[in-house]
Amino acid sequence: MAEARDAGELRRFLLEGHPLRGQWVRLGPAWQELRSRRAYPPLVEALLGEAATASVLLAATLKFAGTLTMQFAGNGRVRLLVAQCSDDFRLRAVAHHDLVAGEAVDFHALVGAGNLVVTVQSDSSAANYQGIVPLEGDTLGACLERYFEGSEQLPTRLKLAADHARAGGMLLQKLPHGGEGGEGAGALLQDAWENLQLGLAELPPEALLDLPPEDAVRRVCGAHDCRLFGVTPVSFGCRCSPERVAGLVRSLGAEEVHAALVEQGALTVTCEFCGRDYRYDAVDVEQLFAADGLLQPDPGRLN
Ligand SMILES: [Zn+2]
Repeated sequence: MAEARDAGELRRFLLEGHPLRGQWVRLGPAWQELRSRRAYPPLVEALLGEAATASVLLAATLKFAGTLTMQFAGNGRVRLLVAQCSDDFRLRAVAHHDLVAGEAVDFHALVGAGNLVVTVQSDSSAANYQGIVPLEGDTLGACLERYFEGSEQLPTRLKLAADHARAGGMLLQKLPHGGEGGEGAGALLQDAWENLQLGLAELPPEALLDLPPEDAVRRVCGAHDCRLFGVTPVSFGCRCSPERVAGLVRSLGAEEVHAALVEQGALTVTCEFCGRDYRYDAVDVEQLFAADGLLQPDPGRLN
């Protein structure tokens, strides 16, 4: 089957007898839903699709309950790009840019100089993990390979692709092992790892968008025995809610919110990710701050 049945699919695989694993992901409807919230020129759209796919691949390498956020903080034409994936593979992403439709720039000009920041936020504890890697390399895949090398010290290879209709990617990883089996086994493992890397390097990016997962994985694994696991669905999902937005409005401070009310009659907060509008009139605002005992601006309060 060439098209994923679900909004998006994640498939894990491993090489029999070796500490080598991989993941294949393809987003169809989930990606279309995500990018339909805003109009992007094709270059930004492709980068956003690759970043969204990468956030799924990164989340799939972890055992966690929470949210993984990938953020580009560079000085390029894309001023900001955020892609988030939760442990249940609900995905959202947004980009800010000043690229004009039809303008052609390369990856460096698109992302600029700066950092790629990966944050893993746990639902249950305040402990966050953050990894930072410079935006170097010719592709997002190359940047992320450096991230894994530096932050997780796991040899990792990654290829990503995205167009208007689909986004897809594959990740290969060499896991730590105890060196069992001596030198011979070590050489076999090294051979297998090199074959896998070559297989991925030779896989055209379009194959990540077109080929069924069985065929894509087979082409990368070559003659090695591999095991492909079942489908994990991936979907578009925004985590915004009236409670979260109320918290955001409170954090602006009563003074600023009242000023906006006087000026515009109501305060509207639009979710960056899904475009949903949250509207507050004077009564809503009073209730919002009364609940906190912050009806009057407190000059001593820190925001
Ligand atoms: Zn939202």
